[in-house]
Amino acid sequence: MARNRGRQASQRQGGRSSNPFSRGMRVGSATVILAFMGLFVWTIVRKQSKPAEGLADHPSLPPIESQSKGSYADVDLSAAVNQLFSSVDPSLPENQYFPRCAKERVLWITTEKKAGKLSIILLKNTDNTNLYFEDLMASGIVEGKPMIVIAGPRFLDFLVEGGRTLPPFTQRQRNDFALGLVHETVHLEKENTANPAILQERLAEELRAWRKVDLNVVRELRRLNQPMNPRLIEADDALRSCGDRAECESLREILFPTETTR
Ligand SMILES: [Zn+2]
Repeated sequence: MARNRGRQASQRQGGRSSNPFSRGMRVGSATVILAFMGLFVWTIVRKQSKPAEGLADHPSLPPIESQSKGSYADVDLSAAVNQLFSSVDPSLPENQYFPRCAKERVLWITTEKKAGKLSIILLKNTDNTNLYFEDLMASGIVEGKPMIVIAGPRFLDFLVEGGRTLPPFTQRQRNDFALGLVHETVHLEKENTANPAILQERLAEELRAWRKVDLNVVRELRRLNQPMNPRLIEADDALRSCGDRAECESLREILFPTETTR
């Protein structure tokens, strides 16, 4: 996967601030076509297939219905990524419910990004990549450097479906985005020795990441009745049915179909 070439924008942020989030997370905007065959990908479902029990989107933020589809072309995705990232700042009072693991992981991304050790790229065009249409994020080591990729087309859908393309984002948008980031940090751990080009290795690594994020973040958010993508709930139910064991056929069945499409 180190063979992948990508323009890695790592613009330095001017000025200093005691709050690492106050200036927002500057993301690179990749317009070059990248052959991302070597990335682990995070897929969340597009539509809620069934109402998740006890979970609801933020009631005070109704979906934007008057906006015509064409006008979404004007959405500044780079700005939205930055704003959404800022909105999951674990030091903000409204994010104090984030489980410890989520806080630490999001902070880690900020620290690594600032130190130039991690790239975050918004990929505006996902043609010629192994990103499936429902994939929101991906990560991997590109040219020796950890990278998190946000898939532009899916990210736009994510904003539109959530009802907000600008701050304030909904509670669910913030939860889902933070969960995606946490998920990618798990793939960037040293424990991940899987070759993403090999289905069985990729699947095993996805099982590891989904389980780790579930046990450390999703389950706690669920206990707090926090809204999130139904796929995360489904995966949590599957893992529970397996007694939280690492070998979990039910969870594997959920992840297998998307992994085989790559
Ligand atoms: Zn993954």
